[in-house]
Amino acid sequence: MVREQIEARGVRDPGVLEAMRQVPRHLFVEPALVPKAYMDAPLPIGEGQTISQPYIVALMTELLQVKPGMKILEIGTGSGYQAAVLAQLGATVYTVERIKPLFFAARKRFMDMRLFSIKPKLDDGTLGWPEEAPFDGVLVTAGGPQVPPPLVDQLADPGRLVIPVGEGRRDQKLILVEKSGGRVATTDMGGVAFVDLVGAHGWGA
Ligand code: SAH
Repeated sequence: MVREQIEARGVRDPGVLEAMRQVPRHLFVEPALVPKAYMDAPLPIGEGQTISQPYIVALMTELLQVKPGMKILEIGTGSGYQAAVLAQLGATVYTVERIKPLFFAARKRFMDMRLFSIKPKLDDGTLGWPEEAPFDGVLVTAGGPQVPPPLVDQLADPGRLVIPVGEGRRDQKLILVEKSGGRVATTDMGGVAFVDLVGAHGWGA
């Protein structure tokens, strides 16, 4: 998976590649999909949601430039796989999911796998997690019409935020927001296809 799907497409950060090797992706999908867990594709996780394609997880993780001890906010816990990759890199991960069954399933996985550096919460993640701000990095794994302003406010300086944004639901770009020296800069990293970010600063619920 790492060599053919991730390194071959240009992800080079050795820490990210090692984290992708270490986290057992098959433990984040339902039993029937275990044979497909390492394929080059997103997979259904129930409730109309998906676990992202391995390459996209690696790309977004690389863009975040995670260092051990960093505080990272993830919006869209889903299966919990992306959060586990961030935790593998030594980050403390605050992850927010809005769909109850997905939240409970992911929280159980984190407990079973003893991933105590992941803090899950059931809420609308477009509001961020103000009590725990600021965050060194923010990663949004669902696509909305804009960058939710609370997430930029809750970003540390320096800090990096990675999010899919689209004017239409089917026309998304991966956006990197960098806060540094009091300034905020935005870079378009190319086209992506994520499930909807639904909430106060996303698509209407
Ligand atoms: N990172 C996940 C990907 C899950 S798909 C993984 O590794 O499996 C994106 C998730 O974002 C879905 O579970 C969806 O319910 C969730 N989501 C969408 N809008 C949200 C919001 N406003 N707050 C929190 N979670 C949200």
